[in-house]
Amino acid sequence: NKVIFSGIQPTGIPHLGNYLGAMRQWKRIQDKAKEGDKLFWSIVDLHAITMPQDAESLRQRKRQMLAALIAIGLDPEKSHMFYQSSVPQHVELMWILSCTAPMGYLSRMTQWKSKLQANPQKVELDDTTVAKLKLGLFSYPVLQAADILVHRATHVPVGDDQRQHLEFSRQCVGSFNHAYNCEVLVRPKTITTPAPRVMSLTNPINKMSKSALNERSRVLITARETEIRSRLMGAITDMEPNVSWEPFARPGVANLLELIAQCRWRARSQDGVEDDDGDGEGGRETSSAAAEALGKGEFAGVSLRVLKEAAADAVVRELEGVRERFQEVLKRRDGAYLDEIEAVGAAEARKSAEETMRMVRRVVGLW
Ligand code: ATP
Ligand code: MG
Repeated sequence: NKVIFSGIQPTGIPHLGNYLGAMRQWKRIQDKAKEGDKLFWSIVDLHAITMPQDAESLRQRKRQMLAALIAIGLDPEKSHMFYQSSVPQHVELMWILSCTAPMGYLSRMTQWKSKLQANPQKVELDDTTVAKLKLGLFSYPVLQAADILVHRATHVPVGDDQRQHLEFSRQCVGSFNHAYNCEVLVRPKTITTPAPRVMSLTNPINKMSKSALNERSRVLITARETEIRSRLMGAITDMEPNVSWEPFARPGVANLLELIAQCRWRARSQDGVEDDDGDGEGGRETSSAAAEALGKGEFAGVSLRVLKEAAADAVVRELEGVRERFQEVLKRRDGAYLDEIEAVGAAEARKSAEETMRMVRRVVGLW
């Protein structure tokens, strides 16, 4: 049987990138799951605090994230949804993994570099960088590995930007099992989404992100129709008047074509490509082919305005009803509904994590 795990940070209401890159896939996996498969979707609050958070907003964003997961169709009867901090085994395994995980890999990871707002290619671990870098921001991939491994997850559906981290999780399995000469931890497979990385609407070189400062760079899945339209009509493209398919020279245009392809694709309900080694070419190629076909066919030579209108239409259709469900779920029984869903999910997650930890503590010699 499959054990599927994935996480999302409560750093704000999810955007189109989270939705197309991760959440939509989670729902699809849920709807296809077989009897006996286990599904864990964690709201990873401990990851969120690698960047400064206001306590009250963090509490609120956790609830909003849970409501968003339900609003896009995750069903508490089939999926376990929980806050990471409700399951202390995640942190316990993180420490144990840190004692065998190689550090070299962490220092090459791009994510802490980009959160220091620097050019990821250029940052070195020199004295000034080390002085600014918080230990948690540097080592959080170990916590992420623990999140997955503590449930002995077999499959992890994530967006394209997380590929590097998944490979690191597999390395952690190798280092741990080797150090303790055991087979306790399980190598997780990456499930790639058919969606490529969704890029920022204000700077299509960066990925769309919850924590980017400029709000106009993203479309929230709970946005009103007028807002969705104004964000897409205001998307930064380039100075050329008409559409052409040149993904490298014209990333803004390519991003809009990808969005249209992804939103239309839903109807055909394709599956993600399972991918063992983490290079994941499959998903990316398929979807880019769809965008490329649009760029060279239906949209070739049309004005950017027409392209943006089509993107807005496609996104509005895709997100239909999410806003209303989100608001209804947040208010349901004055919030008690969400608390109950989380309590049930967390209890299941603790059971699953504790099973692994018993074995881990044995082989390490803690028990
Ligand atoms: P933050 O900026 O706080 O890191 P985020 O937008 O990157 O927020 P995460 O919570 O880090 O969101 O990631 C949740 C999931 O969404 C992950 O599986 C990640 O791969 C996916 N994801 C995030 N951004 C994008 C994007 N722009 N395109 C596709 N998938 C994305
Ligand atoms: Mg992120």
